[in-house]
Amino acid sequence: MTRSLTILGATGSIGRSTADVVLAHRDEFRVEAVVGGRNAAALAQVAQRLGAKFAALADESGSEALKQALSGTGIESGAGCSAVLEAVERDADTVLAAISGTAGLAPTHAALKPGRRIALANKESLVCAGSAFMTDARRLGVEIMPVDSEHNALDHALAAGFNRDVEKAVITASGGPFRTWTRERIAKANAKEASAHPVWSMGSKINIDSATLMNKGLELIEAHHLFDLEAERLDVLVHPEAIVHGLVQWNDGAITAGLALPDMKVPIANALRDQGRLTMDLPRLDLAAIGRLSFERPDEGRFPCLSLAKAALKAGGAMPTVLNAANEIAVEAYMADQIKFYDISEVVEIVCSTFSRRSISAPATVADALGIDQEARQAAQQLIRDYAETTRL
Ligand code: NAD
Ligand code: MG
Repeated sequence: MTRSLTILGATGSIGRSTADVVLAHRDEFRVEAVVGGRNAAALAQVAQRLGAKFAALADESGSEALKQALSGTGIESGAGCSAVLEAVERDADTVLAAISGTAGLAPTHAALKPGRRIALANKESLVCAGSAFMTDARRLGVEIMPVDSEHNALDHALAAGFNRDVEKAVITASGGPFRTWTRERIAKANAKEASAHPVWSMGSKINIDSATLMNKGLELIEAHHLFDLEAERLDVLVHPEAIVHGLVQWNDGAITAGLALPDMKVPIANALRDQGRLTMDLPRLDLAAIGRLSFERPDEGRFPCLSLAKAALKAGGAMPTVLNAANEIAVEAYMADQIKFYDISEVVEIVCSTFSRRSISAPATVADALGIDQEARQAAQQLIRDYAETTRL
């Protein structure tokens, strides 16, 4: 049976890999709508490649360019918030949510509809508004399938037993480009060096998050909401080969792990599948050729973002929302060369500690979460302006 699919973030790294998976199984999917951020030409191209019925660009000013690029194709288009919402509202069995950052929360949340499946790549949705989002998903009977490779692996490993028997669920990190660098060297690294990921090819924000290890911290919070596991039962291991993505240690000492070559098409195909698995013509994992797999503990001294995220998860309430917002602003400033690498963790730490004094409870709705998110963003922006002032003095 053909499944209809809508792709949010279709022009990004996950969006492009999703297009590859869909095109390898043309008879199994029909693409209803594709959504992109600013690049009208890229969106028009993916819409045509996939034979989508509707293409929506978030940036309203790209409306004409998109219309022109699609003229004569029979593909409808729109631009701006209402067009994105229209794309989300259209009939589709599955919505693949791969907009980057908190910008993905509102459209991903709007995509929750009875009986639907959400293939979720946009982890920031769950970090910003995890409880509210998951409560709504459960209420509406929406199945959330994790696309994030670690969570996709955990999803399978966890299916081997009961939640109560899980002693620890572990997600792995490749360690990013600075795994072997000294703190002094990392302190001077620019965004280009931070973006040179040794294993994965990804979008710009997640690349920086991987260099700071904030990505792993966000993933711990994501795992907490997806699998109903508290902070004490979640852990991170650094694993440079990025072959083992997630491990579940059971209370009898046995471990169930998910392994695959590091290619996002594997978890994407898995999150899109209906029953059984989609056959994928990808290179197979040859463990004998790899020879050995190595693991080490993360160094939270050189990568303080990981401990900040762990602390936010433990503290609960609105702290993950605040952490996520401050991080997004700090990462943008770092990419714009306005702050240094360790200013990212410093901004996050200061904003988190300011908000922690207010003991705000976990946002009950997505709107509440976005309100706290805005406040935390403003606090982070102010701090970054202060940094700029100090540097100028
Ligand atoms: P990317 O930057 O390559 O792509 C982001 C996509 O979102 C693009 O299509 C962009 O046009 C669109 N977009 C940006 N702002 C938008 C807005 N306001 N409205 C509508 N669309 C908008 O990012 P990516 O690497 O593909 O990551 C996407 C998400 O998936 C992130 O949340 C990331 O954490 C998660 N993820 C990515 C990977 C990976 O390997 N790339 C792995 C796991 C999880
Ligand atoms: Mg991941």
